[in-house]
Amino acid sequence: MAKVIAFSNQKGGVGKTTTCVNLAAFLAEKGKRVLVVDADPQGNASSSLGVYDKKIKTSTYTLLCGDNETEDCVTETDVGNLFLVPSSQELAGAEIELAQVVIGREKMLAEKLEDAKRRYDYIFLDCPPSLGLLTVNALAACDGVIIPLQCEYFALEGMSQMMNTIKLVKKYLNKKIEVAGVVVTMYDGRAKLTKGVLDEIDKLFADKVFSTKIPRNVRLAEAPSYGKPINIYDNKCVGARAYSALADEFIEKIK
Ligand code: ATP
Ligand code: MG
Repeated sequence: MAKVIAFSNQKGGVGKTTTCVNLAAFLAEKGKRVLVVDADPQGNASSSLGVYDKKIKTSTYTLLCGDNETEDCVTETDVGNLFLVPSSQELAGAEIELAQVVIGREKMLAEKLEDAKRRYDYIFLDCPPSLGLLTVNALAACDGVIIPLQCEYFALEGMSQMMNTIKLVKKYLNKKIEVAGVVVTMYDGRAKLTKGVLDEIDKLFADKVFSTKIPRNVRLAEAPSYGKPINIYDNKCVGARAYSALADEFIEKIK
């Protein structure tokens, strides 16, 4: 049965999608069957994997708001073992459509994924930078949350809101949810500020913090514009090596 992991942080641009896609790609390369569900109307995970809006017929939108089962919405990617339920801008409408459902609207995704779990080792949910119904659906469907944190002064701002949301989801929607890990992204060991921020993160999340830090690396920022994860775009760059190491640590840590 797949472990379902949500990549969430309501702060924007902290590396949720970059971490979700590249960790998934390396896990697939290492022999795991991985499904990425793009739960963000921005569709960044989809385009990072070379699947673009115009070509998308079945998606996270048709999964949540239509009669589709998960397998109807899955497309292959250029990476063997790595599969995607893509999203497009119409997913923004799901938030509004779901709001009108009276019973069970927070659990739509959880229900749809139940059957798919038998076919994958991991199901990754790339969340939007907000705490709306799409994020709540992802949190209600997951076993654990990975929180990417950008190593900068404001990194921990909003974290109390995030932790509170997880607590409420645990109480009302999903008893098994836990913080599966914290990934430090865009790390610059030379910056003076970094050490102080890291100490704070360690204090708050202790052994949940992955020891692999993801450095700031321009190749990681370039890869999505070619529709390729980093293991295909440039397998040798420091960013690729970091995500490969993170995948090894993930396999050890997340059981
Ligand atoms: P959003 O909240 O909009 O969904 P996000 O949290 O998913 O954003 P990303 O899209 O992964 O964040 O990253 C934000 C930007 O930073 C992107 O342009 C991405 O290419 C870039 N980026 C992410 N990680 C790194 C890194 N380690 N080094 C350099 N650039 C990075
Ligand atoms: Mg994103």
